[in-house]
Amino acid sequence: MNGRSAPALAARALAVTYPDGTRALDGLDLTVERGRSLAVLGESGSGKSTFLAAVLGLLPSRAAVTGSLTIDGIETVGSSARELRKLRRGRIGYVPQDPFAAVDPLRPVVHHIRFAARAAGTKIDAATAADRLVALGIDPETVRTRRWPHTWSGGMLQRACIAAATITAPPLVLADEPTSALDLDTGDTVLRDLRSRATTLIIVTHDLHAAAVVADDLAILRNGQLIESGRADDILAAPQHPYTQSLLAAARATGGLDG
Ligand code: ADP
Ligand code: MG
Repeated sequence: MNGRSAPALAARALAVTYPDGTRALDGLDLTVERGRSLAVLGESGSGKSTFLAAVLGLLPSRAAVTGSLTIDGIETVGSSARELRKLRRGRIGYVPQDPFAAVDPLRPVVHHIRFAARAAGTKIDAATAADRLVALGIDPETVRTRRWPHTWSGGMLQRACIAAATITAPPLVLADEPTSALDLDTGDTVLRDLRSRATTLIIVTHDLHAAAVVADDLAILRNGQLIESGRADDILAAPQHPYTQSLLAAARATGGLDG
C-alpha cells in the first residue's frame, strides 16, 4: 500500500529488543490514519520512548527490530539510518522528552528553531522563530533579552522544542511527554497549539489529562504491549480493560482528569 490511501503510520507485530535483552516493544499493532491525533499512554518503562525511537530510526544500532513499521506506506524496518533520515526530512517533527539534552547550549534558543527549519529544507528569520515562542506563551521580553538556553527553565525549553518541531508544520509530529514541565493551563494551551500545527500528531505520555486534551484516539501501552486502543471518547467513557480502568480511576482520584 502506498500513496494517498496509506495510513500516516502503521505498526504490525513491531518488536524491539535492546542489546542487553530488554524487550521494550513486544508485538505492537497500531494504525494512525492521516489527520488523526493519537496519544500513546503508559507508565514509565512501558516502551513509549522506544516506540518513537523506532519510528525515528534513533534506536541503538545493535537493537533488534522485527515486524513492520510504515510511514505513509513506506516500510522502515530494515532501512538504513540514512534512508530513515531522508524519509524524515521535512516530513516528521519530533519533540524529544528531555529539552535540556535537545538544545545546543552554545547557541541561542532561537537558533535551535531556525536550525530545525533549515534541516527540514526551509529558511526562516529570527523574528519568525521568536514569534512562535511568544505564541507558545513565552514573554516577548524574555525572548528578546534572554538568549541562552541555560537561562531558560525546562518548561520554556520544552516550548522551544515544540516550536522547533512544528516550525515547518510537518505532516507528522511525534512528541514525547511534551508538556511534562508545564503547569496545567499552559500545558493545555501548548497542546492545542501543537495539535493545530500537525496534520497527524502522535504524543506519548503517562499523563491522562494531556492525552484527553489532545487525542482523537488512545493506545494504552504496558510492558511493550498494547492493552487497549480506540477512540479517546469511547475509552474515557467506558474503558474495557481492567488496566485501563485502574489508570482512569487513579487519574480521577488525583484530580488529573476532569469529570
Ligand atoms: P517509557 O518511555 O515508556 O518510559 P522506554 O521506551 O524508555 O519507556 O523504556 C522501555 C523499556 O526499555 C524499559 O524497560 C527501559 O529500561 C528499557 N530501555 C530503554 N532504553 C534502553 C536501552 N538503550 N538499553 C536497554 N534498555 C533500554
Ligand atoms: Mg520515555
